[in-house]
Amino acid sequence: MIELQTDIAVIGGSLGGVMAAWQACRAGRYVVLTHEHDWLGGQLTAQGVPPDEHSLIETAGASASYRAFRAAMRQHYLDQPDFVDRTEMTEGTNPGDGWVSRLCIEPRVAASYLQALLQPFVDRGLLRIIRTAAVVSAWRQERRVEGVVVRAASGVVSIRARYVIDATDTGEVIALAGLPYRLGKEAQSDFGEADAPALAQTADQQPVTQVLALRREASAGPLMAKPEAYDFWCRYLLPHYGYPLFSNRIPGSGRGSSIALPWFGEGQTLDLWRYRRVVSARNWRTPRAEVSLINWAQNDYALQPLLDGGLPEAEVVAHARQLSLSFAYWLQTAAPRPDGGTGYPELQLAGDVLGTSDGLAQQVYVRESRRIVGLDCLNQTDIAYDGGLLTPVNRPDSVGTVWYNIDIHPTCVSGHGTNARARPFTLPLGSFIPAQCDNLIPACKNISVSHLVNAATRVHPAEWLIGEVAGLLAVHALDSGLQPALIHASDARRAEFQSCLTAAGIPLAWDAAQVATRTASTH
Ligand SMILES: Cc1cc2nc3c(=O)[nH]c(=O)nc-3n(C[C@H](O)[C@H](O)[C@H](O)COP(=O)(O)OP(=O)(O)OC[C@H]3O[C@@H](n4cnc5c(N)ncnc54)[C@H](O)[C@@H]3O)c2cc1C
Repeated sequence: MIELQTDIAVIGGSLGGVMAAWQACRAGRYVVLTHEHDWLGGQLTAQGVPPDEHSLIETAGASASYRAFRAAMRQHYLDQPDFVDRTEMTEGTNPGDGWVSRLCIEPRVAASYLQALLQPFVDRGLLRIIRTAAVVSAWRQERRVEGVVVRAASGVVSIRARYVIDATDTGEVIALAGLPYRLGKEAQSDFGEADAPALAQTADQQPVTQVLALRREASAGPLMAKPEAYDFWCRYLLPHYGYPLFSNRIPGSGRGSSIALPWFGEGQTLDLWRYRRVVSARNWRTPRAEVSLINWAQNDYALQPLLDGGLPEAEVVAHARQLSLSFAYWLQTAAPRPDGGTGYPELQLAGDVLGTSDGLAQQVYVRESRRIVGLDCLNQTDIAYDGGLLTPVNRPDSVGTVWYNIDIHPTCVSGHGTNARARPFTLPLGSFIPAQCDNLIPACKNISVSHLVNAATRVHPAEWLIGEVAGLLAVHALDSGLQPALIHASDARRAEFQSCLTAAGIPLAWDAAQVATRTASTH
């Protein structure tokens, strides 16, 4: 067994994990980053999901480094001699011109960017990245996580660290260290949230989605082999909504309501193909086949929860993969076409886009994690929509700005989705500090928020920010010799940490006037 010792161990190469490692290395700290999949960047890359962003992202509500990332992504495409910006679905250059994401980019391009961001620190010897490494245990001494053990392709590695950052998408270290956590839905009596159910249920988690890439060729290509689970899924009716899952319908905003979208639209029509299209033929001067990343309601896997349910995680993922492959096969062979025919055999799996041989993303897309029980727990009452004013919720203990709908896909037990509006809000420092541990810091979807708020903080710019804050909190704790809880406990110490965040390019408050002007012009 290899034994390592470091300032900060970042467990998980998620988007938050990459940003935590980056900020810690920038501050000159030694970091070991362990990483399970080929590409660094979690939902942005290995999970195959282009950024989900709030509607003010072009001008407000993101850190300087997230802005730099967006600008670099656009520049990458604008630098291609063949690229021409004819974006029509969203504002700003949108390479794939999808409409759910304003920055529909190929995951490979984002993965290269993140690797390049970290490489200088690897070269300087500050950062050690251990690839294809899954965390298997964590050891604790009372209120401290002393270290973790990972099983990597290169062997078993034990990492002892002064601060341990859990940047797994599932809150793996929290569970392995035996720390308390929240999972699934809280009861209405817990926080008084309007959209919470009467009874709490840990198994009622958001579904996972096994994203796949489809390329739309000019003519019919070979058909995929029929997936084993196909017959089950092509007859499956979505509980509560009552329509066949394999159809052009997706859940709507009201309880049990649904809407139908065309497969392929023109102009500004909202269609399914352009949901998360990452290659748009219109944006290239020479003919190019379009590519879309399939993360539609049709391939959300909600039959079992990923975490702490009846099945091991690997089995849940195997089922999710079968669902996605079955949906692709149905699209090729059975989807009704407007001309009365069936199937689009020109849709072909495009593993090259996701860095895999089978057309599926390297990792399943995880919407919900185990969440620390923190000094503070942000819940729906803190960010609830105020009936049109959209007054930002600027907190004195803010560590950064976030905004997104409370976007719950039909969940694994009750089968109910929600899409409740939220005000622009800020994350409290206390959401990053476990009540029962002095040196573990969460860095992605595992901060202390309720199930409902997680649906708003799970998206890319928020997870990016969370990672940055986690890295900087570890650095500040090491530099000051104060545990995070002590930084949190004093106004003066908190203000000192907040000035570090500001210096690192993280805005701590929304500008209410800017929000009002901007939302008035767009709604
Ligand atoms: C229960 C449920 C399940 C869902 N499942 C999935 C899923 O599995 N996968 C997935 O990707 N999404 C899914 N969605 C949809 C996704 O969550 C939303 O589209 C996303 O949250 C964007 O929210 P929004 O409020 O910005 O959307 P909207 O306000 O609807 O806008 C979305 C985008 O479309 C543009 N737009 C809106 N109207 C027009 C128009 N008339 N013409 C041109 N452009 C327009 C906007 O500028 C924006 O960029 C689901 C939604 C619900 C309610």
